[in-house]
Amino acid sequence: MTVENYLAEHSSELEQQRNDVSLTRYTGRFAPSPTGPLHFGSLITAVASYCDAKAQHGKWLVRIEDTDIPRIYPGSESHILRCIDAFQFKPDAEIIFQKDRLELYEAVLQQLQQQDLVYACQCTRKMLGSNHIYAGTCRNLGLDFAEQAIRVKVSDQDIYFQDRLQGQQCSNLAQDLGDFVLKRRDGIINYQLAVVVDDYLQGITHVVRGADLLDNTARQIYLGQLLGYPRLNYMHLPLAMNAQGQKLSKQNLAQALDLTQASQLLQAAFTALNQPPITLDTPARMLLQGIQQWDASRIPVGTTLHGCYL
Ligand code: GLU
Repeated sequence: MTVENYLAEHSSELEQQRNDVSLTRYTGRFAPSPTGPLHFGSLITAVASYCDAKAQHGKWLVRIEDTDIPRIYPGSESHILRCIDAFQFKPDAEIIFQKDRLELYEAVLQQLQQQDLVYACQCTRKMLGSNHIYAGTCRNLGLDFAEQAIRVKVSDQDIYFQDRLQGQQCSNLAQDLGDFVLKRRDGIINYQLAVVVDDYLQGITHVVRGADLLDNTARQIYLGQLLGYPRLNYMHLPLAMNAQGQKLSKQNLAQALDLTQASQLLQAAFTALNQPPITLDTPARMLLQGIQQWDASRIPVGTTLHGCYL
C-alpha cells in the first residue's frame, strides 16, 4: 500500500489523532525568583507543576526569574539549583536565567513603543501616594523614554479567564489598576513583562503556580494579547500557611527547604496537595509514583491550605 492510499484510508482516524495530540500538548514550568531560598510553598508549586505536566506527557521547564537584581538574595540561586537536584526533578531543557535575556525584553518594549502601546512616566512613588489605581498622569505627555519608568496603556475591557482550580475570574485593568509599569525608572524589567515574553518564547502552554499570583494573571493575559501570543491555561494552587496564619513567603522568613529531608518534604507536599499516599522511598521514585497517581481534581479548593504538613 502506498503512503497516499494509507492516508486516504485512515484520514478520519489520523485527524482524530492529530486532535488528541494538540489536546495533550503541554509545556509547563517552574519559575522561582531568587529573592530568598525555596521554602515548602515553593516545593508545593514545583511538585504540582511537575506532576501535572508529566501526567499529561508534557514537558516541564525551569526558569530563574532574576531580573530584579536589588532583590536577589545571596545564595538563593544556588539553593534553587541544589533543590532541583536533590528532589530529583528532571527539567526537559536547560534552565534559563532571565538576567541573561534582558535584550529580548528590551526588544519587546521597543515593539510596544512602535505600536504606541507604552509611554514614559516620571511619576515618583511619592507623587503616586497611596493611590492604587494609576491615573494616567503621564499618558499624553510624550516624555522621552530615557531613564523613565515605562508603562503600558490598558484598556477599559473585562478580561475573563477560567482557572482550573479557582474557577472563573474577571478583571478590568483600567478600573482595578490603571496603566502598569513594564520597566522601572532604575532600568529593571518588571516581572509582568519578562514572564509573558518567556512563557511565549519557551512555548509554555500551562501555568501552575501559587494563588498569590492570581491577580497578576489579567495583566499577563492582556500583555500577551497585545503581543499576539497564544493564551495559556492557568491553575493557581492554594497557599501553604505558617502557624500564624500567614502565607509561607520569603518576607515572612519561611524556613528554607532542608535538602537532607528531601523524601519527607516531598511526602508532605503530596499530602498538602491531597494526592493518594506515596509508598515509595527515594525522591526520584516518589515523583514517578506521584505522576502516575496525579489527580489535579483532588487538590484542595480555595486559596489557602490549612493544617500542618511537616
Ligand atoms: N517568579 C515568580 C515567583 O517566584 C513566579 C512567577 C510565575 O510562576 O509566574 O513568585
